[in-house]
Amino acid sequence: MTKYPMIINGECCYSDREILLVNPSSGDVFSKISIATDDQVDKAISSSKNAFEIWSKKSSKELSDYINMLADIIEKNSDELIKLVSTETGKPKVGLSGVGATMEVMGAVMWLRYTAEISLSDETIQDNEEARVVVRRKPLGVVASITPWNWPFLICIWHISSALRAGNTVIIKPSEFASASIAKLVELANEVLPKGVLNLITGDGDVGSQLVQSKDISKIVFTGSTNTGKSIMRSSSDTLKRLVLELGGNDPAIVMPESDLEKYAMRVFSSAFHNNGQTCACIKRLYVHSSQYDEFIYKLANIANSVKVGDSLHSSTELGPLQNEKQLTLIENIVQDSVDSGGIVHAGGYRPTNKKGFFYMPTIISGLNNYSTLVAQEQFGPVLPVLKYDSIDEAINMANDNLSGLGASVWGDDSVLAEKISSHLECGTVWINGHGEVQPDAPFGGIKESGFGVEFGKYGLEECTYIQTLKIHKV
Ligand code: NDP
Repeated sequence: MTKYPMIINGECCYSDREILLVNPSSGDVFSKISIATDDQVDKAISSSKNAFEIWSKKSSKELSDYINMLADIIEKNSDELIKLVSTETGKPKVGLSGVGATMEVMGAVMWLRYTAEISLSDETIQDNEEARVVVRRKPLGVVASITPWNWPFLICIWHISSALRAGNTVIIKPSEFASASIAKLVELANEVLPKGVLNLITGDGDVGSQLVQSKDISKIVFTGSTNTGKSIMRSSSDTLKRLVLELGGNDPAIVMPESDLEKYAMRVFSSAFHNNGQTCACIKRLYVHSSQYDEFIYKLANIANSVKVGDSLHSSTELGPLQNEKQLTLIENIVQDSVDSGGIVHAGGYRPTNKKGFFYMPTIISGLNNYSTLVAQEQFGPVLPVLKYDSIDEAINMANDNLSGLGASVWGDDSVLAEKISSHLECGTVWINGHGEVQPDAPFGGIKESGFGVEFGKYGLEECTYIQTLKIHKV
């Protein structure tokens, strides 16, 4: 069985304590990783610190070339990486509406190539007989990247591409549930990057916590749950670290009255169910006008019943298993709680008995209110509660009446009304007639309990730097 190494200062390292990685399609162990010792974490930090001295002095062109080399090596090894992502996450190769492991790996290549081409230049804000004042952007130092299990490979690339491009070095700590594809990525990356620029340590939350508390880490970029984000914020306060926290989402979608439901049903469905709803910016709560409520539920339930659920490595599969057993149990319990409190299940609502892995059928539920657990909390699974509204104001109020603020969407043909609604929604991104599509040049991040800071494009690059003001007196 493969045991994926940690990579510290360009060397493969292991420890005696291990975590077993499980293939969610079968429930069987397929590989293992080490739990980093305290000494190994310290070694990774000092290696990254030393590498920063050289890396941060490289020219913008050199940094850009390295980022392109990373894209090249991923592209060259894409078949193996796609299979690994599919095996460890349960994501099919293609997936529902094309959202699958291939998109995850090839999306990473696209992100790297875009990020290689952007840079931040010095800005002269004053130049007169008195003085010249220049605002510079400088790299921060060692950045720690802590990633979740749902899109491990792509989220890791989101974290590292801007950090490295801006001249920082990076230590990655992936989720203990999904470390294999990142381990392979860092091994490949170390074939092209200088030693210590990209280190990998593996293990559980305690290993991540050690990174968070280190005085030698300048910034944490964290994608994961709101609870862990709060804990990271608390424990990084002693060393006043910079943080980007991409936390949980509970995204609402509003279908405007008199919408052509036939036109939008499949798109709304896949925006809620791709990757089994295990995406921060999936639709998690759907608000439909009372005049079209029953009809839309009927259409969504029909689609749910026709989706092909199966092993992630089978070519016809649209939805694979959930990524881990804990998440499956959470979904089972939350659906049961919804039914107990009056929810009506129109499709799904059970785990298929003929499958060994962590499968759950896509589920459509009505009859809940805005304060039901399934609606109020991020469920992160293949379940969509559909709620009824009578007026646009009511829909906006229900959408905003939630602790999360990552994304939201508005659906229908009246683009003027849609834009007006969008301006009242409290969240980091609003999509109209779409949901969750991120792109490398558009800033992405949340508000409220979905976190703060943004990633992507020049906005994400800025977050990986500090400002230094230079004033030159003309004497
Ligand atoms: P978790 O918060 O459980 O874990 C995320 C990462 O943090 C893992 O690597 C975990 O390690 C690590 N970790 C756990 N405890 C600590 C700690 N005390 N200090 C430092 N690191 C720690 O999230 P999940 O992996 O369960 O991911 C799902 C969540 O991620 C969902 O809430 C989802 O919405 C959110 N998410 C947000 C996105 C966004 O952009 N806003 C995008 C994607 C997901 P280990 O797993 O080994 O315990």
